[in-house]
Amino acid sequence: MGGLDRRAFNRLLFAGLPSGLALGCGRDSDPGDYTAEDAARLDQQIAAEAAQAGRGRFGALRFRGYRGLAELPWFELSPEGRLRTTAELPGIIDIHAHFGMDVYRPLDPTKRSERVRHLLDCDGADPGCDLDLDRYVNGNFTDAEHDALPREFLAGAFARGATQTHTAANLLAEMDDVGVAQAAILPIALSLPFAGSLTERWTRAIRDNGWGDRLLPFASVDPNDDDAPEKLRAYAAAGAQGVKLHPEMQRFFADAPGAMAVYAVCEELDLPVVFHAGRSGIEPERIRKFALMRRYEPAVSSFPNVRFVFGHGGARDLERAIPIAQAHRNVWLGISSLGVSQIDQALRALGPDRLVFGSDWPFYHLAVTLAKILIVTRGDTGARDALLRGSAETLLA
Ligand SMILES: [Zn+2]
Repeated sequence: MGGLDRRAFNRLLFAGLPSGLALGCGRDSDPGDYTAEDAARLDQQIAAEAAQAGRGRFGALRFRGYRGLAELPWFELSPEGRLRTTAELPGIIDIHAHFGMDVYRPLDPTKRSERVRHLLDCDGADPGCDLDLDRYVNGNFTDAEHDALPREFLAGAFARGATQTHTAANLLAEMDDVGVAQAAILPIALSLPFAGSLTERWTRAIRDNGWGDRLLPFASVDPNDDDAPEKLRAYAAAGAQGVKLHPEMQRFFADAPGAMAVYAVCEELDLPVVFHAGRSGIEPERIRKFALMRRYEPAVSSFPNVRFVFGHGGARDLERAIPIAQAHRNVWLGISSLGVSQIDQALRALGPDRLVFGSDWPFYHLAVTLAKILIVTRGDTGARDALLRGSAETLLA
């Protein structure tokens, strides 16, 4: 990838121009924000997980592509080659999905494609990628595939590339295939110059197309923006059912005053917050400090009446997320991206009522999270139904 693409992408997704400038002086330079121990813990997690994959109580779980999941007892390939479930399931509620991030040029949300090219596209070649369900999902992709992501995001901002397939209509078709009844649609407010509001556009698309019974529009505001509380009130009045916040991409600490002001509005309007929480290990190192779990604790303890979801269960920082969730009943763990052993660990620590299904579509096929839940809860329909639907119902009630 050329240097220009990289710079443009950094501005687009990981800097967010105004917040980037604001943070340039001061907070960036505090050595306590990201210590050598923090960096070492991430390296250790990645190494230990890779070494232990396939050796836990679920054994080896490796498949060829998303399509390969058809080998599992709950899936099959349709005559057209679409992966679909054959299991009797409660209508799944997905608490973590996105449309294509069409920041500068809108996608046509009604457009269908023959095949969805997920951002991490395990079915792009034949045979598909080596998919190991016992690893954090991004660990299944090569460096080259991760390196291609920025270019894909940049093209997607202008409704080009794989993002063209990340439409609401394609999401709904995939939801039908695997039994997902409803999905929360999470925009991310990036405060980019000349960019439209994804929250406004996506909320309107859902309403105008009559998808409101299946797609739940969430709002996103930038906690670095002084007008965030006011904007959130307007989004809620227009139908937003919760808030998505991404400390890394939006460059804020979850315990910063601007963020606290946003949670105060969430408390007043009874809106749940879905956080990106914890480090995924594929983000630029300089933004990892924003995802450390110790920054989330003050948020959830200061607002016990606000329901918070730690997206990705705290990702590669699951070990730090679990004790926070144990100490605070207003915290749920989203389980998108976690490997089966990690989901099992979270289930044993917190019980099924505190875990919610999240796919992170269009990064991955919806069936990836579903397959992992069905494996971990095999023989325990109570836990299975809670993870697929019951806990999310409580969270959204
Ligand atoms: Zn996401």
